[in-house]
This record gives sequence, structure tokens and C-alpha cells, in this order.
Amino acid sequence: MADKRDYYEVLGVDRNADDAAIKKAYRVLAKKYHPDFHPGDKEAEEKFKEASEAYAVLSDKEKRAQYDQFGHAAFEQGAGGPGGAGGFGFDFGDMGDIFGDIFGGMFGGGGSRRDPNAPQQGSNTRASVRITFSEAAFGCKKELDLNLKEECEKCHGTGAKPGTSPVTCTKCGGKGQVVMTQQSIFGTVRNVTTCPDCRGTGKIIKEKCPDCYGSGYKTARKKISVDIPAGIDNGQSIRMRGKGEPGINGGPRGDLLVEVRVSQDPVFERDGYTVYSEAPISFVDATLGGDVKIKTIDGEVLYNVKAGTQTNTRIRLRNKGIPTLRNANVRGDHIVTLVIQTPKKLNAEQKAALRAFDDAMQGKAKKASEKSEKEDATTVDETKKDKKEKKKNVMKDIQDFFGKNKQD
Ligand SMILES: [Zn+2]
Ligand SMILES: [Zn+2]
Repeated sequence: MADKRDYYEVLGVDRNADDAAIKKAYRVLAKKYHPDFHPGDKEAEEKFKEASEAYAVLSDKEKRAQYDQFGHAAFEQGAGGPGGAGGFGFDFGDMGDIFGDIFGGMFGGGGSRRDPNAPQQGSNTRASVRITFSEAAFGCKKELDLNLKEECEKCHGTGAKPGTSPVTCTKCGGKGQVVMTQQSIFGTVRNVTTCPDCRGTGKIIKEKCPDCYGSGYKTARKKISVDIPAGIDNGQSIRMRGKGEPGINGGPRGDLLVEVRVSQDPVFERDGYTVYSEAPISFVDATLGGDVKIKTIDGEVLYNVKAGTQTNTRIRLRNKGIPTLRNANVRGDHIVTLVIQTPKKLNAEQKAALRAFDDAMQGKAKKASEKSEKEDATTVDETKKDKKEKKKNVMKDIQDFFGKNKQD
């Protein structure tokens, strides 16, 4: 350890260099000496390790302070340095996050460098379920019949015939990756690719398990019960943790994502948590006012129509809309368009009554209808504004819902 070079000297930076300068210096050196570009070159590997070690210390505020004060002695094992007994043992394996940070996509985002023998989470599985408008509004429970991958019981997922076990791939030495060298006009290009012999698993199965033909999995039909929350909308998905494909090398299972498809309803439409519908009202109720029955998602309600209501008047039934995903007690509104039904078949007596009515209205009718058209226009304006605001709230609810469910 005595002949160790100074970390600042290794990176070629000033003692007062800031984090950005240190990172930049390391990036240059790491690219220059990275073992993937110099397979078998011991000197390059040493240089790379030296630079990585210097970077690991100088990029960490605490370690850098210790190094500035005590030099290399700060990290010598058992030297009783300021770090206590722990000190700082340099471990090449700890550099993973730094590579990811420094190189970004250079090596395929670091994913390709993953140890094939490390536990990995299984893949996510997708399924869909069709529900009615009302089931989406109030929530429901559905049973799905799915083909799911299960670990083979006979070989416990290894894929090898019971009594035998997979052997380490000799081509890649169990790494799952090989370095391919190609000559090009730019010189020698080295690519890290998935090992063709073991297809990246690092293992070779000599005698395959007869039950799963070496895959380690079996597909089985399984019933899965899904709780669909009130307020869910068409196209949204429910994430069921740990219900996806089995993990690899003892890793956790993936998730099951169940997409919800909501069937159209003959009466109701929705936009977020707001329900829209049309309700027919009679010409007499519209004129004289009165209680009319209106269909809502909770059933029929009585609504008192004002005298002189015009056709296409929109009314708002507060809290009669869709329950929100966040809290089923908080609901959207239901906007109803009142459509006046013009009588089609009238007998002579009814026709006479209407003519008499018309005669009685002479002179006054014009004024009255102008006034209520104005009122009508204001109502619609307000409704539009409210709808916009409601939409904003709904978007927030959806974001919150998914934020909560997709934490990784
Ligand atoms: Zn098997
Ligand atoms: Zn291999």
C-alpha cells in the first residue's frame, strides 16, 4: 500500500477539483482503460482499477474528507483509521452504480452486465377483463382463468433431469456473455454479446428434465381473483404484485397487470368521474314544472323541473357520478340533459286544447321565450367551466392512483 499513487494524481485533477471535474476525469480514464476494450491486458485492467478506486473515494464526500486528512491510511484495513474497524475495502463489485451513472447507455444501460446467476424478478404478465359500466363505477370481484407459468415441481425450476444439475457454460465461464472481436476500417471493435452456447444463462443443461423439457417451467391453467376498485375507467390496469411469471435463480415473481375494459352503457357515458346522460321530459312538465324521474347509476331519482324549462337544458346532480378511485365516498357529478318530448299522436280534443292554449298565449309568448333562452345560455356556460375543472381533478386522481400502484 505504501507505493500507492495519490488519488488526485491518478485522476489528474487538482486537489480543489469539484465533483463534476472528478467525474469527467474518471469518465475519460474509464473509457480509455475499460477491460471490455482491452481483454487480457493486465496493465489496462490495473489502470482501470486504480482510476475506479480513486473515483470511488473522491466522488464520495465523506470518504474524500477522510482521504484529504489521512491519505491512504484512512482506508487501510485494521489500521484503526477514522472510519473505525470498517475502513474502506475497495470492492470492484460496488462499482455497478457508478458505471451506470458514468456510461449510461454505453454498455446497454448496464443491464447486459448483470450476473446471470443472480436472482432476477420474473416477467410481468398481462391479462384483460371486461366489466360493465356499473361494475366499473362501484367496483367488483372477477375471477380470471389464466395460463400461468409455474416453476416445474420435478426439477424445481433448474430444467435439469432430477439427480443431475446444470453445469457452468465453458464458452463464457458462467458469465452469460462473450466478447466478440471484429475488424473494421476503424480498427478492432469489441462487442460484448450474449453467449450463444448458454443463451446468457451461464449454465448448460446436459440432461433435460422430462417434465418441462429443460425450461424449468410448466404452464398451468389457474383461477385468479381480482378485486376491481370502484371508479376504475376503461383502459386502466390493476397491478397484482407477485402474480406474474416465476423469478429466475430464486428471484421474486413478476407482477400480473390486468387491463380493465369497460363495456358501453345504453344510458350513461362518463368522462373521468362525471356521468352524462339524457333524460326525456314531457312538454307539460317542461312548461309547468314538476317532479320528473331521472335514471342515475344509483337508480331513479325525482328531480323538480323548473317551470319554463327549455329543451337541452343541462342540470347537475351533485355526487351522483362515479366514485373516485382514491375514496369511494367522494364522487363525481351527473350531468343530465333534459330533452323535451314533442307529442306526436294527438287526438282532436288534444289538438283543440293546444290551439286554445296557443290563442291564449298570443302576444306574450315571444317575450317569455327570449328571456328563458338567455337563462339557458348561462347555464350551459357554467356547466362547461365546471366540467373543465372536474377534468383536472380527475386527472390528478388517476395520477395519484397509478403513482400509488407503480412504485418501482
Ligand atoms: Zn422440470
Ligand atoms: Zn455461456
